[in-house]
Amino acid sequence: MTGRRIWFEHAALSDGVQPDVLVCIDDGAITSVESGMPPGGDVEQVLGLTVPGLANAHSHAFHRALRGRTHAGAGDFWTWRDEMYEIAARLTPENYLDLARATFAEMVLAGYTCVGEFHYVHHRPDGAPYDNPNAMGAAVIAAARDAGIRLTLLDACYLRGGPGTPLTQAQLRFSDGDVQTWADRVDLLVDDDDVHIGAAIHSTRAVDPESIAMVAHHAGRRAMPLHAHVSEQLAENEQINAEHGCSPTALLAAAGALSSRFTAVHATHLLPTDIDDLAAANCTCCFCPTTERDLADGIGPSAALRAAGVRLAIGSDQHAVIDPFEEMRAIEMNERLHSMRRGTHSAADLLAAGTVNGYRSLGWDAGGAIAVGQLADLVTVSLDGVRLAGHSGDALVDALVFAAAAADVTDVIIGGATIVRGGAHATIDVASELRRSITAVREGER
Ligand SMILES: [Zn+2]
Repeated sequence: MTGRRIWFEHAALSDGVQPDVLVCIDDGAITSVESGMPPGGDVEQVLGLTVPGLANAHSHAFHRALRGRTHAGAGDFWTWRDEMYEIAARLTPENYLDLARATFAEMVLAGYTCVGEFHYVHHRPDGAPYDNPNAMGAAVIAAARDAGIRLTLLDACYLRGGPGTPLTQAQLRFSDGDVQTWADRVDLLVDDDDVHIGAAIHSTRAVDPESIAMVAHHAGRRAMPLHAHVSEQLAENEQINAEHGCSPTALLAAAGALSSRFTAVHATHLLPTDIDDLAAANCTCCFCPTTERDLADGIGPSAALRAAGVRLAIGSDQHAVIDPFEEMRAIEMNERLHSMRRGTHSAADLLAAGTVNGYRSLGWDAGGAIAVGQLADLVTVSLDGVRLAGHSGDALVDALVFAAAAADVTDVIIGGATIVRGGAHATIDVASELRRSITAVREGER
């Protein structure tokens, strides 16, 4: 997409919300930004408030098939996981492509312009590779391209059921058998203009310390983002403490996994020394509040992380909710419930978590701001809907973060191309595709 000039009624720039902003876009990047420009001529016009594109830094696309089916009743993370494994067992490269495309399209409608897919369903259900050992990863990449969303495929190493525990039957298809085979397979995947390849350590439960060190080394060699689930559950901390006498974060630090390219996903049950380690290594923590509350994980130490200088990002993880505004404000709202104190995170801090911090976590360092040289990823919300009507000026960012919903998104531009206009996806009937693809996975043959 080249040579677009678009006038935005209001845009959130680095110096606050400005009116009448003319943005020029060339070859997928922003080439000029001027505020106080009158609309007119043949320039495209977008009404409402426009902000940088939002990054979903932690997704498992296939979990979308669980929405509305696993939230009622009792149980915990571990009983939820059994239900999730039921769906994982039913995935094929074909039905995964359809489900991931519909899920990514729902994300774009909600204002997510970039997604980090934490990908661990690699092989056939019995663990044997497909003819193309990256058939499942290729399906995720094709799905993102169809949906128009920018992707970082975080290919996860997953080698064991837990400390001293072999893989279960359900986990066989997650594993490459050993870390070198994982690395060789990941090396077949290459970056592209709209796709980055990253690495992931599923968790310190699923990967032993020697293999963690090798994954970290491999990610460093290719300068890839590296993510891991960290301390989502107290039981995880207890297992790792029993095996190694330390926390998951300390284990990752000792294995050389922590760096400015590392993101700790969840980071719910951290020790003070874990926070020191994450801060010293300039890491990011990705909170997934709508998932963490659904699974009764707990509330992560966002105030202490912020005080230590650790960047926060957001993720929708299991997609019980796909709404970046809900994830952003939940970081602050959860902190209020926990500390009985308001105002730890400002609206601007939370918007940074949803935008620039997420882009950086996913290896897109030129994303997350409306400025010259940045990726042309832009999201517009209507100011005429019932949630945001009556707001103006700098208060618009407060209103956006604390009151907007995914349904307020009207326009989404990714890489300079309009993917959503008037609240509709350009090429995909999203509700219809969700219905069809979820039914196919849930009712398909095992
Ligand atoms: Zn996850």
